Formats: sequence, C-alpha cells, structure tokens
Amino acid sequence: MRGADPRSAEYIRHYVDQIARLPCSSGSALTSHPHHEEGAMTGPATCSQPSLRSGAEPGRQCQAAIATQGRCLAHLPQDALERYLRGAIYVNAARVVFTPVLLERVLTILTDHRSIGARHLNLPGAEFTSRLEFRHERLSCRADFSGATFANSVDFCGTHFESVDFSGATFGEHADFRGAELDGANFGSVTFGGWSDFRETTFGNGVDFAWARFMGGASFSKAKFSCGTANFRYSAFGRSAHFEKAIFEEEADFSGVDFKDIAWFDEVVFDADTTFSSAMFSDDTRFRGVHFSGESDFRLATFQETIDARLGEGQDPQRVFAGADGSDWIRILLTGYF
Ligand SMILES: [Zn+2]
Repeated sequence: MRGADPRSAEYIRHYVDQIARLPCSSGSALTSHPHHEEGAMTGPATCSQPSLRSGAEPGRQCQAAIATQGRCLAHLPQDALERYLRGAIYVNAARVVFTPVLLERVLTILTDHRSIGARHLNLPGAEFTSRLEFRHERLSCRADFSGATFANSVDFCGTHFESVDFSGATFGEHADFRGAELDGANFGSVTFGGWSDFRETTFGNGVDFAWARFMGGASFSKAKFSCGTANFRYSAFGRSAHFEKAIFEEEADFSGVDFKDIAWFDEVVFDADTTFSSAMFSDDTRFRGVHFSGESDFRLATFQETIDARLGEGQDPQRVFAGADGSDWIRILLTGYF
C-alpha cells in the first residue's frame, strides 16, 4: 500500500475496510450526515456571487453551499447571517471561504448564542485564510471539515466534538488539539504542515490517522485512545514523533508507518493488540518502559539506528520484537549495549 495512489482500487478497498472496522458507530465521524447538501443528487445549488478564493480568476463564481437567501455564509449580509446562525441546528458552510472578518463574525454569533447549540457544522472544502481559534467556544457538536484548508494555525484546545471529520484536510501551520475530546475523529490522509500537538487529547470512539502526513513533528504524549482502533496505518512522520505516556485502551495499528526521525514511545501502555508490522524506524527509537498487554506484531518492521528496548517490568523484548528486521538493533539489544 505504501505509495499507492489514493484513487486506486486497492486504496479504496483498504479505506472501506477501515470504515467497516470502526466500532461504536453511533458517534462515528464516518457515518453519513443527517442532512445532505441541497440537491446533492441533482446538482447542488451553489452561491453565484464572485469567488473569494485566493487566486480565483475574474468572473469565477463562489460555488459555496447556499445557507439562505441564495447565498453562502460569506456572501450573506450581517443581519441575515445572524438570523441564520441563531436558528440553525445544521450550519451548512461547505466550500465557504472564511476570511478573518467572516470568521470573527461567525464565532462571535455562535459564542453569544451558544444556548441554541449549533449541533452540526458542515464545512467540507472550506478555506480558512487566517488563524482559527475554537478553544474558547466550548461548542459540543459534530463537524465535517473534510478537505478543508487551514492556511494558518488552528487552535482546538479543549474543544469537544461528538464526531469530527478532517479527512483530506490540509493544515498549513501549527495544529493545536491539546486536551481536546474527540469522540470519533477522522484525520485520514490529512497533511499537517507544521507542528501537530495532540498532547493529552482524548480520542473516544476510535480515530483514523491512516495515510496522514505529519510534516512538522507531532506529539501524542499522554493522549488517551479509547473505544475503537487507533489507526495510524501508512502515516508518515517527517520529523519527531512523540507518544510518551500515551494510553491505547484498544487495538493500535501502526503498520507501514514511516518514522523519518525520532520515535519515542516511553511508558506507553498498549492495553490490547498492537501492530507495527512493516513500520520503518529511522533514528533514535525508544520503547523505554512500554507495556504491551496484548499481542505485539513487529513483523518486517525495520530499525535503521539504535533502539532503546528497555521495556516495562515483565516484558520480554525478544518476544515483543520477534520478527522485526534489522540485525543491528537485535545485536545491540542482546549484547546489553544500553
Ligand atoms: Zn458565496
């Protein structure tokens, strides 16, 4: 699967398989939404105002989803925008371009009227041209950010999503999810351009990072993965990958993951079966104090440099890492190099 075209039949089969394996489907980000885009089967009615996308050629239409009055959120007058957001259980903002001014207006209205509870934010293909701060909104909702583009940094610290779909999204800068509660999150094929911070994030209902690209380093330290598979299959970490003290309560799947820099798993607890099959570790790999309660699968995993395999109490490195490829680290381990 490594290097497979995301549009290929093989990739699609793989991805469908991942969806089928997700447990606790009631809150899954991958379940269909309660409402579909207007007229999706017959060609959606879209906003015909001038496009707000950067670099759009003159005369190009907006083509964002219509919220009300034949216009998208970005093209609504302030009073109509406020009326729409105050009353909406389902906010349709597909493909909307959020300028700093629009973003400020929307977040202000949603914050001021949080009692109405925007329960479902539909934002696939949306473009955020400025920093997005969600941390103070404390909205508890479902959200679809699939294919969205975040040109600047994002701050979702402490935010609770009942389910959230970021699949195929692009985060251009720092993505901060520290302490967020994500019940059913899909980050499949996401590109993280900057540092991605998931420290102490709680992933309930499974999480999908398959084929994600972490270009600027990532931390999942003290993150908690519960009720469903933590799926990192074929993801790539361009810089450091930190998982210290993370807890995986259910299956963890790191098969085919490409760790191009340090990979630290110190004191991680894997409560269920774990696979790192065919994963590639490059530099400074640490499994110090790790505890594997279930089966561990390191078949065909490769270690280019040293590995600190001083596992937790009662853990046998030779059994845990059985099947891994890379005679160097095996020799180092067996000769008591550390
Ligand atoms: Zn528009």
